[in-house]
Amino acid sequence: MSPSHRALCWFRSDLRLTDNAAVAASARAGEAIFVFIDETDGALRPRGEAGRWWLHHSLARLGDSLAAHGQQLLLLKGESRVLLPRLARDFEVDLVVWNRRYGAAEREIDAAIKAELKSQSIAAESFNGALLYEPMEIRSKAGGPMRVFTPFWRACRASRAPDLPIPAPASLPPLPVLPEAPERRDLGSLDLLPKHPDWAGGLRNSWSPGEAGAQEGLSAFLSGALRNYGENRNRPDFVSTSRLSPHLAFGDISPRQIWHATEAARMAGQAAGSADDIEKFYSELGWREFSHHLLFHYPNLATVNYQPKFDDFPWADAEPNLRAWQRGRTGYPIVDAGMRELWQTGFMHNRVRMIVASFLIKHLLIDWRFGESWFWDTLCDADPANNAASWQWVAGSGADAAPYFRIFNPVTQGEKFDPEGTYIRRFVPELARLPDKFIHKPWEAPHPIRQGAGILLGQTYPAPIVQHEQARQRALAAFQSLSRVAS
Ligand code: FAD
Repeated sequence: MSPSHRALCWFRSDLRLTDNAAVAASARAGEAIFVFIDETDGALRPRGEAGRWWLHHSLARLGDSLAAHGQQLLLLKGESRVLLPRLARDFEVDLVVWNRRYGAAEREIDAAIKAELKSQSIAAESFNGALLYEPMEIRSKAGGPMRVFTPFWRACRASRAPDLPIPAPASLPPLPVLPEAPERRDLGSLDLLPKHPDWAGGLRNSWSPGEAGAQEGLSAFLSGALRNYGENRNRPDFVSTSRLSPHLAFGDISPRQIWHATEAARMAGQAAGSADDIEKFYSELGWREFSHHLLFHYPNLATVNYQPKFDDFPWADAEPNLRAWQRGRTGYPIVDAGMRELWQTGFMHNRVRMIVASFLIKHLLIDWRFGESWFWDTLCDADPANNAASWQWVAGSGADAAPYFRIFNPVTQGEKFDPEGTYIRRFVPELARLPDKFIHKPWEAPHPIRQGAGILLGQTYPAPIVQHEQARQRALAAFQSLSRVAS
């Protein structure tokens, strides 16, 4: 790129300056324009509310970083398919750059924009900004998509080491004088934040969106929760994982940065965890890669069963149990704590995600797509690949999924992974005074103990909305009816 050229860098889910190939390419131009579009193209799934909250703050931080380089983040709202080629023409740019995304609608929009730019003789270049291994790179022996995690991850690891991150540019070219663009907005008028009511207090207390927050989270993890990660990562009662997922979802940080910072800490003897802990952590990043691989090859992952035999599953009516589940009022403390953690903080620990998802699908026989939608709306890390693939994994309908007949017992899961009930007491405070022995099954506590803890079942805290054993038998029967249909 010659210094006399003008580049337009289109940010999407890559809201950072470091390890951003599109930013690096723009830094080589004579002039650069940095834009983010709140896209309204009809084919795109609208972002959920918690994700919009995160996006607002991440954009604010990115704007600050650009301003520190004497640059600006131009914000626009509209259909990117129409808007971007028009901006490129009106702003007289020579090159448009972005980092790739992997959903079908997104890819279709990007391809259409690229073709339109080409017809206007404007160059367009795209890069990998989100993954260690892009879906097009990794193939089965037969040349097709991979369907099973272990060989997939083995193939990734055997192919090459993840690329080194690209340093942040030392300086950025100036912003040229631009004509008016009627679609330009300021951050506030994108209306990303909740107002009436402002429910985001718990999110503000829990998170620091943006590039600096992601780096702080990574450093804290490498010197802290990485210790015994392999074992502790299942414990929701203390900080046992990196909590980097929302940063990854918005590209505040890249997986390459995480990978190489972990490697550097390991080499310097500064990583808190053992070699096994680090391998386990890498394999979790590997699940993220696998989910993106699946989404790329099965674009309807969020709406269509990966295994078609589940299309005949005899789901129950969603209401009223769906509402009890969403509100954390099922009467099963570990489920309710998880759903309330989600509501209050926009996050839920992975072990608890598996428990609540299993409960919705198997105990309540509610179609996994209702759960996927609720998570999409309420998770800060809501991600089109990870969310859809994980829900199908729990449902048993996915690729390399948990078998449907493996049905979590919410009481024993709680006792195993939150043995002192610390997590329950944090998110279900009305149970806080119950002794540990009954914290995961308040209905078994003798009446005087419940009374002493201030609990009136059905009043201060719900009685279980289903009985575990009956629900388990019902779920197994429903699954067996599928096998009969299939045979
Ligand atoms: P860590 O344990 O520190 O792992 C590091 C990173 O690896 C995570 O940030 C994440 O990017 C990735 N990762 C970890 N576990 C998984 C996994 N099982 N599948 C894919 N990637 C993984 N994750 C999302 O990022 N977005 C979602 O919308 C999402 N929805 C989920 C829905 C259900 C029903 C379940 C069971 C899991 C879901 N997950 C989702 C996966 C997982 O729960 C989160 O990635 C994890 O809890 C994030 O916490 P962490 O960053 O501390 O993870």
